[in-house]
This record gives sequence, C-alpha cells and structure tokens, in this order.
Amino acid sequence: MTDQLAKNYPELRPPLRTLLGPGPSDIHPRVLEAMAKPTVGHLDPYYLELMDRLQAMLRTLFQTGNAMTFAISATGSAGMEATVVNLIEPGDTMAVCINGVFGQRMADVATRAGAQVIRIEKTWGQVFTADDLAPALERKPKVVGIVMAETSTGAGQPIEEISRAVHDAGSLLLVDAVTALGGMPVCVDDWQIDAIYAGSQKCLSCPPGLAPVSFSEAAMEVIRTRKSSVQSWYLDTTMLSSYWGTERAYHHTAPINMTYGLYEAVRLILEEGLDACFDRHLQNHRALRRGLEALGIGYAPQTGYELPMLNAVWIPKEADDAWTRRELLRRYGIEIGGGLGDFRGRVWRIGLMGYASRMSNVLWLLAALEQLLAEQGVPIEPGSGIAAASRFE
Ligand SMILES: *Cc1c(COP(=O)(O)O)cnc(C)c1O
Repeated sequence: MTDQLAKNYPELRPPLRTLLGPGPSDIHPRVLEAMAKPTVGHLDPYYLELMDRLQAMLRTLFQTGNAMTFAISATGSAGMEATVVNLIEPGDTMAVCINGVFGQRMADVATRAGAQVIRIEKTWGQVFTADDLAPALERKPKVVGIVMAETSTGAGQPIEEISRAVHDAGSLLLVDAVTALGGMPVCVDDWQIDAIYAGSQKCLSCPPGLAPVSFSEAAMEVIRTRKSSVQSWYLDTTMLSSYWGTERAYHHTAPINMTYGLYEAVRLILEEGLDACFDRHLQNHRALRRGLEALGIGYAPQTGYELPMLNAVWIPKEADDAWTRRELLRRYGIEIGGGLGDFRGRVWRIGLMGYASRMSNVLWLLAALEQLLAEQGVPIEPGSGIAAASRFE
C-alpha cells in the first residue's frame, strides 16, 4: 500500500468503548470470535443444522413452542416491519399504543402498510392499562401493537392484562420486545402474544443486523388466509418459512457470520440461565439506581415501571447535556444516550444491557459521572454514588 493510500484509508482501529447507551451494547468476546469463523454457504448442511439449533434456542428465549420462530436478516425495525406487513392487509384496522418513539414508529409502519391506524396515546414514560385500550378495542381492530420495553422512555409495559383485553376483543397482539428480550422475562405462550420481534444488539449483546421474531399459530393462520400477497417480498413469512422450514428453498442469502454471532450470543444466555440473567440485569439496575439517587438524579418513567436494562433519568439542572455526554465518551470511553422526542435535552438513557450489565460498569459510570457533574457545580458528596451502589442488599 502506498503512503498516500495508507493515509487516506488507514487501517480500521475502532476505539474501545464501554457501550452504556440504548444500544448497541457491549459485545461479548465470544460473540466476536464466533463471527470470525469460516463462512459456509447458506444451504450448507452445517448451516442448515445451525439454523435449526438457533430456532430451538430462540424458542427457549421467547418461551414459546411457536414453529415460526426465526431471525429476520436485518435490524429490529425490520422485525417491526415484518410482523406488521405480514398481518396487515390494506384497509385493515390496527390499534397502536404510543407512549414513546417506538410506538410512533410502529404507527408509521402500519400506516405505510395501508392500515387504518387507531392511535392510543399516553404521556411519555407512562404505561398502558386495559382501560386505556377499551375505546379502541370496541372498534375491533385486527391487530393491536404495543412496545414492551420503550427504549426512548425507560418504561416497562406489563403485557398480560393487555393481552387478555386484546384477545377478548378478538384481536391479535403484536409486541415489540427489541430491548426486553434477554434482559427480562418475555413469555410469548403464557402471555398469548401473536407476533413478536426483537433485535440482536440490545440485551442479546450481538452486533446489530438480525431480528429474532416469532408468530403464533393464530397469526400464521391469518397470514395463510390473506387475500392479498404480503406487500414486502423480502419480509414475506410464507416465503421465509420455506427457507427456515423443511423445504430449504432459497429465498435470500442469509448473513451467515451474523448468524454465528447470534447463535453464540443466545448460547451465552442459556449457559448463564434465563433466571440468573434476568436477576443480574435487575441487581445491576438497582445498584446503579442507588448510586444515581445518591448523586441527586431521579428516574423519568412512571414509578414501579422502570426498566432494568434502560435507565432513563432526569438530567440535573446544572449539567449541560451534550457536554457531559461528550466528555464521558472522550475522557472515559463511556457511551450513554441522550433523550429523544419529548425527552430531548431532559433525559439521559443509561443502558445496562446484556454483557454490559456488570457491576464494574455501574461503578465506572458513577465515578465518571460524579467527576463531570462536580465540575459543573452539581452539589455532590464525593464518593457517595459509588458508596450507595456498593451497599449490597
Ligand atoms: C432499538 C429499537 C428498535 C429498532 O431497532 P433497530 O435495530 O434500531 O432497527 C425498535 N424498538 C425498540 C423498542 C428499540 O429499542
């Protein structure tokens, strides 16, 4: 390589960060290693076996027996799009619960798919009750969409009560579990979820690029009896089921090495044990919360519904949002998220997702934050954040 080329196009040297934002999260070294293994063909017997094993593991993770459980070859938003466009035909009614960015996005996707969208809105950070849905359910929508872990507000939506109301109305329940999956229980069968999607880069600690999805038998029946073909060729589950199912018909070239990564990522969770993994997320969230509260920082979502993997907290009034996040990254290599939409400039979003949910990260962030806040004149008792976080319950 000439000096000029080397200067224009230097070797890749991404900085080592600690990813404590709303995703992507830190990648486990075993996942990166898995992704560097030799690529095989997408119809190679080895790969086909791997697909079966990945499907089986995803069923365990989603706590479902659904045959149609697999990974869409694209990010979480494609999972959203896939669940919506397969269930919706132009003119169908879909109710969407909106209390943050991702509910808004789902309503947008449904509108583009030709649905008559009923928007059920709630203040950002608040969660829905069955009563909130009642007027919309009277209109018997075909599908009701809701976000389980709203990454823009840090609020966790209980699904069971909503599910009962949705099914009593004869509707199908579609759930966004992009941030929830791998960080808290997601019980697809017990909660009777008909279509659900997630993403590889949040609590699964895999790079972005795959979206695990699952469809119930009731959802598949609706898809099989559609009058019109699915508007998206790429995301048509009837065609995808021929590749993931026994026919193995070529549809698109699967991202082989991404699949290796997701395979290893889910294997890591099963190795740890689902309950142990969820408990780790909860304990580290509680430690961070004690620490932040000692620094005078409070939580934005409705009390009692704070997510363990995404801590949305009010920015202290003395602190400069952009400066603080920039210095966290520059001095300490820590990434946290700023607010979106209604929460822009008011909220920080601190992720403790998957492999990044570790006590060492909690302490590292609290120490860095204490320093930066003290420099901006926020009154802080030195060492109080770390002391509070370290007080094991
Ligand atoms: C991140 C996220 C998405 C979108 O996923 P991408 O992988 O960014 O496409 C959708 N819903 C929720 C709740 C998310 O957190």
